[in-house]
Amino acid sequence: MDQVRIDALRKNAVPRRLHMINGRHVAASDGATMDVVSPLDGQVLTTVARGTVADMQAAIATARQAFEDRRWAGQPPAARKKVLHRWADLIEAHALELAVLGVRDNGTEIGMALKAEPGSAAATIRYYAEALDKVYGEIAPTQDDVLGMIHKEPVGVVGAIIPWNFPLMIGAWKLGPALAMGNSVVLKPAETASLSLMRMVDLAHEAGLPDGVLNAITGEGAVVGEAMGLSMDVDVLVFTGSGTTGRRLMEYAARSNMKRVYLELGGKSPNIVFADAPNLDEAAQVAAQGIFRNAGQVCVAGSRLLVQADIHDAFVARVAEIAESMRVGDPLSLETAIGAVNSETQLRQNLEFVQTATAEGAELVTGGSRVLQETGGYFMQPTIFTGVTPQATLAQKEVFGPVLGVTPFASEDEAVNIANATVYGLAGAVWTSSLSRAHRMIRRVRTGVMHVNTYGGADGTVPLGGVGQSGNGHDKSLHALEKYINLKTAWIKL
Ligand code: ADP
Repeated sequence: MDQVRIDALRKNAVPRRLHMINGRHVAASDGATMDVVSPLDGQVLTTVARGTVADMQAAIATARQAFEDRRWAGQPPAARKKVLHRWADLIEAHALELAVLGVRDNGTEIGMALKAEPGSAAATIRYYAEALDKVYGEIAPTQDDVLGMIHKEPVGVVGAIIPWNFPLMIGAWKLGPALAMGNSVVLKPAETASLSLMRMVDLAHEAGLPDGVLNAITGEGAVVGEAMGLSMDVDVLVFTGSGTTGRRLMEYAARSNMKRVYLELGGKSPNIVFADAPNLDEAAQVAAQGIFRNAGQVCVAGSRLLVQADIHDAFVARVAEIAESMRVGDPLSLETAIGAVNSETQLRQNLEFVQTATAEGAELVTGGSRVLQETGGYFMQPTIFTGVTPQATLAQKEVFGPVLGVTPFASEDEAVNIANATVYGLAGAVWTSSLSRAHRMIRRVRTGVMHVNTYGGADGTVPLGGVGQSGNGHDKSLHALEKYINLKTAWIKL
């Protein structure tokens, strides 16, 4: 039934898209636009405004004004909660439309997009709507003749730079807590996935969010993203994306107003399978899902498979069999397991990683090539290499594509050493029947998230954040609120 609706929606013309500043759709200051190329067929889908530095500055000034006059932060919590719930209702009511638009823009398979995009965005907005009137200040345990109070205040203007792999989900991870705490926001969607997120911004306004509280500027990271990073009037910058850009954002902050910068960067997450895993077939299924869904374009993707030597060959053979059975193709078909790679650039980079891995002596077990080229779209086979040494490029650098590197290990100590031998520390997993080993591995593997006998799927109640060069700060859960709050001490002599 849904397939019929999806096929109807996929034919809709996509109108050109303008910025959102102060509740109005406005063109770039110089009228410039940029093409949106669909990864499904390589064709131009529509255009978006190509933002200028002046556009970004106008959006920031609007957000500042909206914050200073307290048109949002000054509303009773119950009123703000109502708006956010209404927004979630609208996201749910438009879920299929949002998902299809997003898939035409970024290539994620629709089955996953529906759940992970509008579905999780609405749930996230609701979670923070419910949280906003449960955040209390504190009274300090001081001596009798003073009163020490700790207020929790919004920080002011939040700049949010969003990547292209899950624009609605990750957008909501930032927007939910930022808006719940009474901040104003300027949003910068990714060049290759802005359409559904911009539509979600429209829906916030339909839900009753006051004009100027949420502004969004499309365009190039190097232009409008940089202008946001260098602004003297953005108080907090939140980002999910590459390490290269994350590093730049810290530089921008240092060169401007020393804004707080929270980064959720990449990973090279180890999925560690011991011979005593409770169900090796399930482990193989989940390992394949854990790297290949959304064509590997998932920050927590289990891109390094560490397998205990005794089961290595049989386990890899099973994962390869599963990979070969995963249908690559039209992301708008509910039958598809692996959709399109987001862009031609990304596809080229993935294929370069395949070449490098081969040149470095790893063995290609399956995949490795572009497929369905006749469609004009950017599709790639799920790809598995074995014999990947811990220092190999494929074990060290994030591909952000459907490429899995397998490394054998003998002992628990060796597994830990290999797992920790990258600059990253986002996620990981251990498969074992031993409770003690599971807990030891949770302690010893340096990541922000460890899964046991599963991979991925952690819901909004738990934080997501990395250690090392995977970033700082947390999305999701009540911990995310900390990024969008200032603590203020009031010290009162009685
Ligand atoms: P990827 O390389 O995977 O596209 P990026 O980190 O470049 O990841 O992109 C994530 C987000 O960062 C996008 O919204 C992009 O526009 C933005 N971005 C890219 N370059 C810059 C920059 N120099 N300053 C600010 N934002 C940027």
